[in-house]
Amino acid sequence: MTGRAVLVTGASRGIGRAVAVAFAAAGARVAVHYNTGADAAAETVAALSGTGHVVVQADLADAAAVRAMVDAAAEGLGGLDVLVNNAGVYFEHPLTEVSYDAWQAAWSRTLATNLVGAANVCYCAVPHLRARGGGAIVNVSSRGAFRGEPDQPAYAASKAGLNALGQSLALALGRYGISVTTVAPGFVDTDMVASSLDGERGDAIRAQSPFGRVARPEEVAHAVLFLASPEAAFATGTIVDVNGASYLRT
Ligand code: NAP
Repeated sequence: MTGRAVLVTGASRGIGRAVAVAFAAAGARVAVHYNTGADAAAETVAALSGTGHVVVQADLADAAAVRAMVDAAAEGLGGLDVLVNNAGVYFEHPLTEVSYDAWQAAWSRTLATNLVGAANVCYCAVPHLRARGGGAIVNVSSRGAFRGEPDQPAYAASKAGLNALGQSLALALGRYGISVTTVAPGFVDTDMVASSLDGERGDAIRAQSPFGRVARPEEVAHAVLFLASPEAAFATGTIVDVNGASYLRT
């Protein structure tokens, strides 16, 4: 990974921060993307080993801002070799309990960020990857795409869409030397699910895995780092579960 230029979306905290730390430890220069967490993004950069890292900002629901952000990352790093589509939102909108307006808003916001946002980052990043003669895209999906999310159905649908996006782009971009892979974590110990893990469901969630715990962000980051490595290029199109055997697909 030495010397590679890597854009990680949603790297201000959680899994994205762990991914940025892992790439930097492997010698990469990282563009740390954030939306609202400017101070947190600065903390991420301060935690990175090596030099040459940059910070970039965009709301992924804003297509023009996405293009400017990706170009700023490429300019700051002197090109792009790897894109990690990690940023995402996850919040409750149970069909039988929310208003129709709230239902609309949940679907719009979730798909705009998790699916269309990631698709737009891909669109804007691919010319930069092609300019280097190839590279890797790794998408951070979710177990929920396969298992369903009764209280966050737009989230599950967005991640199922992200899986299909990744597999479609694996077919479309292989000819340019670009691999496209996906990790599908179960619960991970981050802010996103802190209220669930700290609440009355916490023990039941941990018991879903025979390890009796949820994933650490670093465990997801390790899988991302592997999938982005040139040695893993022929795994393009794959979806790797990182869920502690809490859900086994057939
Ligand atoms: P997190 O701690 O909530 O962090 C989310 C990140 O996404 C933040 O950096 C945030 O940026 C960014 N983000 C959110 N909305 C955005 C928007 N509209 N535009 C741009 N950036 C936006 O989440 P996490 O747990 O690390 O999750 C990272 C990824 O893993 C997500 O795709 C999530 O779906 C997936 N995942 C998580 C779990 C889990 O249990 N935690 C399980 C499976 C999959 P700011 O804070 O700067 O606004």
